[in-house]
Amino acid sequence: AAAPAILDVSNIEVIYDHVILVLKGVTLTVPKGGIVALLGANGAGKTTTLKAISNLLRAERGEVTKGSITFAGERVEALSPNALVTRGCIQVMEGRHCFGHLTIEENLLTGAYTRRDGGRRVRDDLDMVYSYFPRLKERRSSQAGYTSGGEQQMCAIGRALMSRPKMILLDEPSMGLAPQLVEEIFEIVKSLNENEGVSILLAEQNTNVALRYATYGYILESGRIVMDGAAAALRENEDVKEFYLGVG
Ligand code: ATP
Repeated sequence: AAAPAILDVSNIEVIYDHVILVLKGVTLTVPKGGIVALLGANGAGKTTTLKAISNLLRAERGEVTKGSITFAGERVEALSPNALVTRGCIQVMEGRHCFGHLTIEENLLTGAYTRRDGGRRVRDDLDMVYSYFPRLKERRSSQAGYTSGGEQQMCAIGRALMSRPKMILLDEPSMGLAPQLVEEIFEIVKSLNENEGVSILLAEQNTNVALRYATYGYILESGRIVMDGAAAALRENEDVKEFYLGVG
C-alpha cells in the first residue's frame, strides 16, 4: 500500500481578480516523509499552487474556487497562513525573503513566532538550524542584506525550520544560484528530510536537480498537471528529456 499522505490537493481551481483562471484542476499528493517535485516552465502555475496550499493567495487577489486541500488529515482551505504554520505547514517563498536590515540570527528568531512553548526551546532550535547550516552560524551576526544569495536562501529555509514544521513548501530554491551552491542547499534539504522527517513539496524550474532529490514528480503546464510519476521514470521519459532536461 502507498505511504499515508501528509498533503492531498484535489482538483483545485485558482482564479485571480475574479476572472483569470490560472489553475485548472490540479491534483497532487505528498506522502508523509516524502520529497515531491512540482515542475514546469515559468508561468505554469507552480507558485500559485504553493500559495493556494499555504493560503497566501488572498493578498494577491487570488482564490481557490474549486477542489479541496487536506493537510495532516484536516481540510485547510479556510485556515489563515498562520494557523497552517501552527499545524506544521510552512512556505519558503521564492526570492529568499529575508529581512535585509536584521542579522541572520534575528531573521531566524522571527521564524519562531508561532511557537506555543513560550520560547523555551528556541535556543535548541537555533542550534539545530546551525547544525544543518554551519554557514549561517558563521554569519549569524551579519546583516542579511549583506550576505550572499546562497546564504539568504539558507536563511529563508532556516527561518522556516524555526517553526518546527512537518512540511515545507519550497519555492524555487535554486533560483539565481551557482550550481555548486544549489547542490549544497539540496543536500541540506535532503538531510532535513531524512533526519527530521520533514516532508517537502518543491517547486522548481531546474528539473534536473529536482528529479535527483525528489522521489516523485508532477509536471504542470498552463495550470494543468500533464504528467506525473516516480522521479527515476520521469528522468528517463523521452518528452521530459526533450522539453525539460534539454537533451534528446
Ligand atoms: P514562476 O515561479 O517562474 O513565476 P510559476 O509556474 O510559479 O512560475 P505562477 O507564478 O504561479 O507560475 O503564475 C501562473 C500564472 O498566473 C502566470 O500566467 C501569471 O502571470 C499568473 N499570475 C500570477 N500571479 C498573478 C496575480 N496576482 N494576478 C494575476 N495573474 C497572476
